[in-house]
Amino acid sequence: MGEGGLARMKKRIALLAAAAVVMITVIALAVILPKTTEKSFFAMNTVCTAKIKSTDSKNDAAKIESIVAGLEENVLSRQNGNSLTARLNSNGGGEVDEKMGSYMSVLLDVCKKSGGSFDFTLGEVSDIWGFGAETAVPNPYVLYNALKRTGYEKLDISGSSVTFGDKFLVDFGAAGKGIALDEIRTYLDESETKEAVISIGGSILLYGEKNFSVGIRNPEGNAGSYVAILDIPAGCVSTSGSYERYFEEDGKIYHHIIDPETGYPAKSGVVSVTVVSESGILSDALSTACFVLGIEKGAALAAEYGCETVFIDENKTVFVSDGLRDRIEITDAAYSSAE
Ligand code: AMP
Ligand code: MG
Repeated sequence: MGEGGLARMKKRIALLAAAAVVMITVIALAVILPKTTEKSFFAMNTVCTAKIKSTDSKNDAAKIESIVAGLEENVLSRQNGNSLTARLNSNGGGEVDEKMGSYMSVLLDVCKKSGGSFDFTLGEVSDIWGFGAETAVPNPYVLYNALKRTGYEKLDISGSSVTFGDKFLVDFGAAGKGIALDEIRTYLDESETKEAVISIGGSILLYGEKNFSVGIRNPEGNAGSYVAILDIPAGCVSTSGSYERYFEEDGKIYHHIIDPETGYPAKSGVVSVTVVSESGILSDALSTACFVLGIEKGAALAAEYGCETVFIDENKTVFVSDGLRDRIEITDAAYSSAE
C-alpha cells in the first residue's frame, strides 16, 4: 500500500471510530434521558390519567396503573368480597396491616375533628342512594334505619385490631383516591422519576421540583373546563363537587356527598371545595369533609391540618385561604373572588 492509500485507510478508520462513538452516545442517551409517557385508565369508579417523565416512563406508568388497580381490588373495594375492607365489613372488624391501620386512624381523626360531618361508616346510606344508573330518592323510613347503622364513634382501632361496635359498612369512597396518590408517591420516590402528574378523578398528585398549573373545574361545565388556575409546588390537590355524581328527581338535584346528620345530600351552599395538602389521604378526606361543613367551618378544619382551600359557593363566589391568595387566578368572568 502506498503512502496515499495508508492515509486514506487511517482516515476511514478514524471516521468509523467517530461514527461508533456517536452511535454509542446516542444509544446511551436514549437509555439515560428521561422520556414522557401519558396514559389514561379507569379505576376507582373514575377516569385516571398518569403523565410521567422518567428514564423508564412506560414501565412506571404501567406500574402506577397496577398500584391503583391493586389497591382497589385487594384493599379498598366494597364490591370485591375478598378485599380487606369487604372482609372487615362482613365480619364487623378484624385484623389489619400497618397501612390499613394508619389509613383508618387518619380518617377517624378527620371524623372526630369534623364533628362527624365526615364519617367513613356511611356505606349503607351511600348504597341506598346508589348514584348508579337507576336511582331514586330513597324511602325516608329505609334511610332513617340505615342511618342508625352508621357511626364512627363505634369504630375502635387498637394495635392491629379493628372492632366495629355495631353493624355498619366502612366506605373509602371519600378518601381512596388520595390513599392511592400517597402509595404512588412512595413508588415514584423509589424510581428514577423526575416529574409526574397523576390524577384519579378529582384528586391529583403533583410530583417534581417545579411549580405546576392546576385548573379548578367549572362546577357547571364539562371536565376540562376551568374557572380558576392554581400555580403551586409539588403536593396533592383534591376537589369534591356536587357535580361529580348526582341525579335529578322532580326538578331537584341529589348529589353523592351526604350529611351524616340527616342522611340526605349535604346542603352547605358550597358547590365545590379544593384542598391542597402534602398528603393525598388528607386532601381527599378533607375536601369531602369541607363540602359538608361549608365555608367557615370547613376552612377552619383544613387550617387545623395545615391545608389550603378554595371554596366555590352557589353564587359563583370563590373563597381562597391565605396560603393560596397569590397562587390563584380566576379565569372565568362569571366567577369572582370573595374580597
Ligand atoms: P369525594 O368525591 O372524595 O368527595 O367522595 C364522595 C364519596 O364519599 C361518596 O361517593 C361516598 O362514597 C362517600 N361519602 C359521602 N358522604 C360522606 C361523608 N359525609 N363522609 C365520608 N364519606 C362520605
Ligand atoms: Mg374526598
